[in-house]
Amino acid sequence: MAETKNLSSRIKEYLPSELTGFLEAVGAIAAYQGYHLYLVGGVVRDLLLDRSNLDLDLVVEGDAVALAQQAASVTQGKLTVHRRFGTARLRWGKWSIDFARARSETYDRPGALPRVNPGSLSEDLFRRDFTINAMAINLNPGCYGELIDSYGGRADLEKRLVRVLHEKSFTDDATRIWRALRYEQRLDFQLEADTRRLLARDIPMLDTISSDRVRHELELVLKEAQPEKVLRRAKELKVLSRLHPALKASHTLSARFQRAREVTIPESQLASVYLALLTYPLTDKEMEDFISLLRVPGRSAEVVRDSQRLKTKLKLLATANLAPSRIYTALQGYAPAALLVSAVATDSPAVSRNIGLFYGWLRYVKPSLTGDCLIQMGVAPGPGVREFLERLRAARLDGEIATRQEEREVVTKWLQERG
Ligand code: ATP
Repeated sequence: MAETKNLSSRIKEYLPSELTGFLEAVGAIAAYQGYHLYLVGGVVRDLLLDRSNLDLDLVVEGDAVALAQQAASVTQGKLTVHRRFGTARLRWGKWSIDFARARSETYDRPGALPRVNPGSLSEDLFRRDFTINAMAINLNPGCYGELIDSYGGRADLEKRLVRVLHEKSFTDDATRIWRALRYEQRLDFQLEADTRRLLARDIPMLDTISSDRVRHELELVLKEAQPEKVLRRAKELKVLSRLHPALKASHTLSARFQRAREVTIPESQLASVYLALLTYPLTDKEMEDFISLLRVPGRSAEVVRDSQRLKTKLKLLATANLAPSRIYTALQGYAPAALLVSAVATDSPAVSRNIGLFYGWLRYVKPSLTGDCLIQMGVAPGPGVREFLERLRAARLDGEIATRQEEREVVTKWLQERG
């Protein structure tokens, strides 16, 4: 870890030159306006930990929106302004940078959203979750790169500790309980002793958080490189059961999560697959409770439900030498991610082979003749067309026919058989 208090060379080393050039330019604009500008939060923590992080958060002692507008003209980027919150997001190329006015926060009651007022940097850092996330780097010319560490974040990074800033932290905002576990497990840190005691004391506060916020925390957990570590820790500290009492974070779950990462799952679907694996052992009723309690949105809820429904097909899928057309009939119509869940969750090689066959190949098979072709050949318009198309698909799947010509021949034969 860098010993120096000035981190400008570290910034140069870890951020691409396009971003460092931008930070220097905006620091100069801010100074010209009489504002103080700081890089804050996760990126400061990660710079000190030698971890890459391109998610830049800037805090301004001054008008953050006005500064972001001027910064936008430097980059020709696209600016999204939330005037009500005094924040703005600037996007250009592959970069996205958040601007916020330094603020202080007070909580009227546990779990409520905070009451926000303009404040100093020091107040802004004090409202943050953990010491390791409560450091800033000055970006104004003259003090560019200077670390501001009022709450001992750097020492805690060295001791590898996640520590809250004050006694009421988890009471004010119990989502920090999940955040603490995420950082602890991601960074291989430990909860500092008092923080751990406060966390245990404040677990009931998790019930003060709205469903949407709780679900958001779970989604963040499921975006971690190894979410199973966070879930296991959450189980150990009795945090997981607050999501739903029937949830388990067993060794089986860890093994399934690992397997899910080994099969080729589109990045965008991995979180839904994890969620369905987490809820896989629940009963139908428990799963429905979970979906409605956390207000799981449509797409993910479909994967969770389909994964449960697919359990009824597992016995058939375990059969040796199952004809491809039967595999197709059993598996068609389910969300593709749910197929992956079943393949990952099963202990039966036959089941995972059959699902793999369907997922990678069978589901794409279809006849080359269309309904119109069949009608031209003499099939009566109506449900019979669909039936013939399905029979053609089955014949193709089972290797009985392979070409368009063979499809024509077999249709002619079926028509003759019908008379
Ligand atoms: P990650 O690497 O997980 O993205 P991050 O530190 O960038 O970590 P964000 O969730 O992007 O985390 O939040 C940015 C910063 O805002 C945090 O570093 C922390 O200082 C502060 N913060 C976020 N959520 C809270 C919260 N619930 N309570 C207090 N401070 C918070």
